[in-house]
Order: sequence, then C-alpha cells, then structure tokens
Amino acid sequence: MSSPEDLKKTYDYAEVERRWLDQWRDEDFYFDWESAEPRYIIDTPPPYPTGRLHIGHALNWVYMDIVARYKRMRGFNVMFPQGWDCHGLPTEVKVEEIHGITKNDVPREEFRQMCRDLTRENIEMMRHSLRLMGFSVDWSNEYITMDESYFGLTQASFLRMLQDGYIYQSEHPVNFCTRCETAIAFAEVAYTENTTLLNYFDFDGVEIATTRPELLAACVAVAVHPEDSRYDGLKGKTLTVPIFSHPVPVIEDEAVDPAFGSGAVMICTFGDKQDVVWWKSHNLDLRSAIDQKGSMTALCGRYAGMTARECREAILSDMKESGILKRQEELPQRVGTCWRCQTPIEILSARQWFVKVKPDEIISSAKAINWYPEHMLTRLLNWTHQMEWDWCISRQRLFATPIPVWFCEGCGEMILPGPEDLPIDPTVDSPKQPCPKCGSTNFTGETDVLDTWMDSSISPLVITKWDGKTTPAAYPTQLRPQGHDIIRTWAFYTILRSVALTGEKPWEGIMVNGMVLGEDGFKMSKSRNNVITPDELIDRYGVDALRQWAAVGAAMGSDITFSWNDVVAASRFQTKMWNIVRFSLTQIRKDAPTSAESPAELADRWLLSKLSATVEEVTNALDAYQYDRGLKAIRDFAWSSLADNYLELVKGRLYSDLPSRAGAVFTLKTALDTLCRLLAPYTPFFASECYHHLAGGRIIDQKWPHLDYADTGAEENGNLLVSVVSVLRKYKHDAGLALNAPLGHVTIYTPGIEIDDGGDAGRCTNADIEWKSEEPHLDRVLSDITFNMGIIGPTFRKEANAVMQAIRALPPETLEAGVSSVMVNGSEITVPEGAYTPVFSYAIEGEEVVLLTVGGALLAIRTHA
Ligand SMILES: [Zn+2]
Ligand SMILES: [Zn+2]
Repeated sequence: MSSPEDLKKTYDYAEVERRWLDQWRDEDFYFDWESAEPRYIIDTPPPYPTGRLHIGHALNWVYMDIVARYKRMRGFNVMFPQGWDCHGLPTEVKVEEIHGITKNDVPREEFRQMCRDLTRENIEMMRHSLRLMGFSVDWSNEYITMDESYFGLTQASFLRMLQDGYIYQSEHPVNFCTRCETAIAFAEVAYTENTTLLNYFDFDGVEIATTRPELLAACVAVAVHPEDSRYDGLKGKTLTVPIFSHPVPVIEDEAVDPAFGSGAVMICTFGDKQDVVWWKSHNLDLRSAIDQKGSMTALCGRYAGMTARECREAILSDMKESGILKRQEELPQRVGTCWRCQTPIEILSARQWFVKVKPDEIISSAKAINWYPEHMLTRLLNWTHQMEWDWCISRQRLFATPIPVWFCEGCGEMILPGPEDLPIDPTVDSPKQPCPKCGSTNFTGETDVLDTWMDSSISPLVITKWDGKTTPAAYPTQLRPQGHDIIRTWAFYTILRSVALTGEKPWEGIMVNGMVLGEDGFKMSKSRNNVITPDELIDRYGVDALRQWAAVGAAMGSDITFSWNDVVAASRFQTKMWNIVRFSLTQIRKDAPTSAESPAELADRWLLSKLSATVEEVTNALDAYQYDRGLKAIRDFAWSSLADNYLELVKGRLYSDLPSRAGAVFTLKTALDTLCRLLAPYTPFFASECYHHLAGGRIIDQKWPHLDYADTGAEENGNLLVSVVSVLRKYKHDAGLALNAPLGHVTIYTPGIEIDDGGDAGRCTNADIEWKSEEPHLDRVLSDITFNMGIIGPTFRKEANAVMQAIRALPPETLEAGVSSVMVNGSEITVPEGAYTPVFSYAIEGEEVVLLTVGGALLAIRTHA
C-alpha cells in the first residue's frame, strides 16, 4: 500500500512495466500437476524459431495471455506452455547462407548440428522477447521439437500409426518442389495467377493444344470426349508422339472438354492433377520427364539435363523449324507454387510415405470441438471434403525428425525399432537384432525425414505428458489458439493425428485469430514498407497499450488492420484511468477505512449496479473469447459511468463531511478494486500498479470479481439523475454561466417516481433542487408578442403603431386563437396572417420558470428565486 502522493502525476509505463516484470516469478505461472482445481491447458502454437517476434506473434500471445490470466483468476489450474517448432527448410536455407555451403557439402550429421545450433540461438532471442513482454508463460512446460525428448515421441507416433495401418509407403505422384528438392503436401501448395501460351501443334495429324510442350517426352496418351464426332475415326487408334516418336493410345474420357483447344488433349505424367486422375483410371504408362532437381531426364533425349524452361523453349523452336507448331494463344493460368520458395511445383512420382486421410473421423471430431468464432469450423470442413489425396509426410531433406525405419538388405523386410529404442536416426543407428526373416545384419536406414507438421501435430499429446502409448490423464486439452491461416494444416493435422492416436478430439475448444495487416490494409511486407514491429510499438507506448490494441482491434477471427490511432486511444485510456485512481485515492485515504456496508445513496447504488452489469458482461465476453467486447465494456464503464457521471455527481459529497460520504468512498473503492481485477488480464502491468496502490499486494494473486449489486430500480432512477444533471449542466453552458455558478431553485417533476438523490444533483450543479413525484401545476402566461415588421410596416404604414397597440390590448385567449381584424380609431382593420406571434411562458404559483425536459422528467428552473 502507498499514499496517493506516491502516484506520479503522469503514468510512466516504462518504469512501471520494468518494475512489475521484476516482481513476477516464473513459478507464479507454473501448472500444478498435483492440483485438484479444474485444469485449463492451452495447446499453444510453437513458433518457428526465426529469432524474431513479429506483430502477428504479439497478437497471438496477447490473445493467449489474456485467457491464461483470466482463467487463473477464475480458479483454474492453467498451463500456458511454450513450444518451439524447429525443423524445416527455412533453417536449412539460412544455414547454407550463413556458412556459404549447400547441404551436400558437409556430412549429414554436421549439417544437422549447424541447424540445431542456429535454432538454439534463435530460440534464446525469442524467449528473451517473450519475457520482456511479460507473457505469463509456463516455462516449466517448454518443449523444443528438435530435442530428443520430443522427436522420440514424434517417432513413437509414427510407429503407432504405421502399425495401425494409418501410415503406408507407396510409389505415387506427389507435389514436389524441385528447388527445395522435396515432396510437399497439398496444404503447402500456394496458388498464383499468371498468363501462359497455349501452343497448337500437329500431333501425328491431330491438332493438340498444350501449355506444357516440355512434357512431350512424358506423353502417355491422347484423350478425346466420347461424343466428339470430330474424332470418331481416331478412337482406339495409336499415334506417334512428335519429336520423340514413341507410340501412345487414343483414349476416350468424359472429363475431356471438347471446347478447350482442339478438343484433343495429350496426357503426360504429370502435367497436372487431372493427368494423375486419367493416368490412374486408364492404367497408363509412367514416363518421368523431369527429375527431383528440376532437370529433364534421359527420357528426353537431346533435351536431357536442361531445365524445364530451357526444354520448353528448345522444343517450341524445334516444332517451329519442322513446321508442326501451328499457332500460339495467350491463356490465363493458375499455377501451384511451393509456399516456402514460390517455385512452381511439379507432380512427380516417387516412393513416399503417406498418412491416410479418413474424412469421416476428422469431421465428426471437428464437430465435437467448440469453434470460436463458430464459422471457422466451415473452413475445416470444406478443406476436409475436398481432400483428394492422402497426406504425403516424407520429405527429402535433412533437418527434420528421421523416419524410424530400416530395410533389410538381404530380403527387403522393413525393420522397426522398439519403443524403448526411440529416438533413433536410422542413418546412424542400427537395429539391435538381425533380420527376423532372413537373419541378415545388413540394413539400409530410411533417409527420408518427416514433414514438420508431423512434429507439431502431436503437441496436445506432448504437453499432457504422453508416453507414446496410453492416452494421458490430462488429455484432451481445453483450448487450441491459432491463426486462421493454418486451419488446413495445423488444426487439420492435429485433429487427424489425435483421433488416430487416442480416438478422441484434441481440444474442447479452438480459438481462431485473424492476421495483422499493415496500416494500408495490406499484408505487412518489407516491399510495401508497412511493417510495424512489436518493439517499435512498445518503445513508444508500452506493452499494455500493445495489449489493448490487440484486444480491441478486431473481433476474434477477423483480420486486424494496424492503426496507431488505436494504440494512442489505448494509451489515453490508461492516462484517464490513472487520473481517476489518483483522484479517488486522495479521497479514499482522507479518513479511516470505512465500513463495508452497502451504501444507501442513489448515485452509489446506481454505480454499483452498473458495475455488476459490467462484470457480468466482461465475464461473458471472456468466456466466449470476445476480447474486444470485454475491453469495450470496461472502458465504457470507467470512462462514462465512473469518470464523467459518477465522480461529477459525488464530488460535492466527497468534499463534505456528511455521513453519506462513506458511501461514496465505499463505492469508489469497490469500483476501483473491481476495475483492477477486470483489467488484470488485459493490462497486467497497469492493473498491478493501480491495485498495489489501492490495496497492496499483487493483482495476479487475486480472484476474478463477482458482484451482487444488480438493482434495476437504482439503475433506472440513477439514469434519470444522471440525465437531469447533464441537462442542467448543458443549460448553464448554453446560458453562459460558469459550471459552479448558483442556479437558483429547480423543481424536478418525475410523476409517479420517487427519487431521493441525497443532495448529489444539487451539490454538483450548485442548485437548490427539489424532486417531486407529482404532476406539475403549470400556468401558461402570455409574456410577449412578437410582430413581423415585414408585414406590419408595408400593410399599415402610418397606422402601424396603433395596430400593434390594439393587438397588445387583446386578451391572451383571443390572441392565441388568432384574430383577423382589430378596431383602430373606430374602424375595423384587417390583420393579415403571420403579422404577430404571441409568446407564452410558464409559471408555478405565479412565478415564471424555465422548463426543460429529459427522459420523462420535467425540470422547472426558477431563475429569479
Ligand atoms: Zn520450394
Ligand atoms: Zn532380411
């Protein structure tokens, strides 16, 4: 606890945040494996260790930290683990760059060690950043996927799924990046639009249009539509492929579009996914024209060794020379590219390992999970429905989990390690026993490694302490937070693997966040120069301002456009709150602690009722992961109800020595204590500092508030009280009066409603206020007449004055009813319409009053009293 004088005039976020970072210990946020409290385990995304936290990470971690802090205050035993998803190509590429080598220049193990070293350095930098931002991470549950303890489990999961028939190897066409020299999964194919040339050429007397002439050597058939009469004579015949001269059959297939090109297509292994479908359904030959490095194979004769692009140019030029190239047309094209390096993917056939995709299992499990927001489930379902191929999990790379399999050189038998032998590297380690089939002791280790998603998709099992065999007691986890960009990968694969390994869903709920866009509304990128880093933001406004920006920037699931204005607004809210706290503490500390009784005054009961509603709103919002809604409710209460209305209403009482002063102090204390607790998940540094000044101790040790001050009557009457005060203040302002100028006697009629404000309205408007629950008895009196001289002057000229006098002399009832003529000097004179307007005012007991109305109340101000 501190005296209010300790509160600096301006809130120094940098000093406060630094100080509280020192106060929190790692143990404060440890998950307790022995606890009987309900568990709340968060299956957090392990970032790829690039060494740098970007603004998207910051958003993600703020979202997770808010829920972690909130659930701890609600009494849950929370696990907020920190993982690192280490394996993969970007690190290999970086190592090659740093050391000026390619992966094949050094022994396999040496290269892997270089990758591990770089990864450790990067993890350390990112750990440091996460700590500086004060995230309540449970560092006792950290995992690193390249560590033996983790990838041993990845291997155990592989073996389990292999033995259960989920994993198989097969020679099959797969998406292949020839730059990365590895197979990739469908989820890793990104699509771009461009324009290509459609080349029409003479194919043994038949006109064929193709965008990929370089695949001519891989042509295995020509296909036409069965009902295309142009080709009636051709069906079932054999054609000779130009340039390469091998024979291919003409086949019929419904999927051929007669309107495209000439209506006859050449099928190559493989130009696209459709080729794979035809190849399978018609049992065609396999001819590989492109190898895994992207070079043309020996099958291509004089083109062998060329790149695909060189081969295309050479073949087209040769076609031109021999006169078979007839014409070329531009054609818009959608190209599948490698998501990591943007190289157009090839479809190559090779021996690969696959995980069976069983859509029904995935769909029913996904539907049993609560999705926040709900519509994200549709994205997963759509992706699952369109899965045509199984998941290719083998990669021809180095820095990854080795596939734990050997093959017997004697008989080809597949040899698996025992669970107790894991982890292994089959290229280094050997089986402990000779081949059970032929007794040979010579083995070849599998050199393929696993897709990194095979590591990260068992995260919910690993954090709940999976032993590789039985489903852990703490499984399933309570929440998976992740971005919508990895629904088809991380969410999809995790569900698939969890169901395969445990028969159960991995999480009770999944919270899906959007992406951060630059201020210009585009994805942040160096080339657009719209990148904002968390460091930059924190330097200028502090961690709590960043957290507020993340929390209110967008609804959960929506992309969030970065805006400095939102950050400034966050910082201004902290300033406002700080001023409220400083003022209130001065008042609270003035005298001995007040008793904890519920206050009786209307304003107090009104604020406490509003506060109860705010707690309920914020609780519901956080339970539904609607962070923006929760913070908006807090800001609205603090700014509008507390600062603008309540504090103004009770200032007079606080400055007095009335007995009811205690009620205001109690109310203020309750409001501040509650606000600190509500803000604790959002702005933990700020809430810690305010709470410490208010009550001493640490907010992170406190419970979530639960208030029971709901009072509909007090809210309704209090709303009226607040409106009355604001109307009177506006009246003063409009009348050019100082806010503290005396206002005289004000009677407020609220027919049927008894209001007792304890004198608050009077004190804060400096008026003598009387509340009356009856109907007002108002007298309407004629106070003036205004004449329209534009009509009076030209109509009556010299007689104008006399006419006006005559009108003034008429009784008020006649004037109000309207007169058409008056008697002037004995003659009747016509009065044109609009010549005058009677002005009425009101009086109570003969005294003239100004009337104002607001929300069912009538305010009568006796300004001359
Ligand atoms: Zn690539
Ligand atoms: Zn054998």
